[in-house]
Amino acid sequence: MPGDVAVDATLGNGNDAAFLASRTGANGHVFGFDVQPSALLSSRKRLEQCGIPEARFTLFEASHHLMGAALPKHVLGAIAAVVFNLGYLPGGDKSRATGIETTLPALDCALTLLKTGGVLSVTAYRGHPGGMEEADAVRMWMESLEPGLYEVQQWKAVNRLARAPVLWLVMRLR
Ligand code: SAH
Repeated sequence: MPGDVAVDATLGNGNDAAFLASRTGANGHVFGFDVQPSALLSSRKRLEQCGIPEARFTLFEASHHLMGAALPKHVLGAIAAVVFNLGYLPGGDKSRATGIETTLPALDCALTLLKTGGVLSVTAYRGHPGGMEEADAVRMWMESLEPGLYEVQQWKAVNRLARAPVLWLVMRLR
């Protein structure tokens, strides 16, 4: 929504960041994280191509499990959406795929950032080594969330390969 603050936790080529910036509008802000310098460069380019002014986004070359420390204090607990795309960057360095050790702490942190009504979106691409294990760990993490506080939905194609992507959407209820 216009004026919202959003986080792209896995910038990659910046497609999600550009989408978020288009929704948060002139008074909103998008914060982005990636561990690959090339991802930061292509995300910046993508945002510029989409005509998003520099003042409306901040990109960090940092692991997403450190987002709590990187973000300005006034946005903590006030974020409308946090988006994760788990896996590796297509066309990038496959060895820099996301992994359980940082993904799970990053999800814990992301949850604390959301405002009431805020959404955490996690898509797990599972085709790479470790991808299934990571997605299983994320599913268990999702299943453990307090039902009174969060609504959690899972989406996946049931007539495709077992390794097809899975999407979870978490909404903070209060
Ligand atoms: N949303 C992107 C695709 C993301 S691919 C798009 O629309 O193009 C996954 C990305 O996660 C890769 O760029 C990879 O470098 C990044 N990544 C891997 N481990 C990470 C970590 N610990 N913290 C932040 N980003 C990470």
